[in-house]
Amino acid sequence: MLRQPQHTVRRCPDCKAILSNVQGVDACPDCEWIDEPSGNGVRRDR
Ligand SMILES: [Zn+2]
Repeated sequence: MLRQPQHTVRRCPDCKAILSNVQGVDACPDCEWIDEPSGNGVRRDR
């Protein structure tokens, strides 16, 4: 695993869209993937 230097732009592992940080949580505006604080990324299916 490569460590990302400092705070870089994160992308959705699913659709590669740039994640938007909402209230400290990275979320994908495209597929609604959310990087949960627990460390487990989840994707909410519509
Ligand atoms: Zn996505």
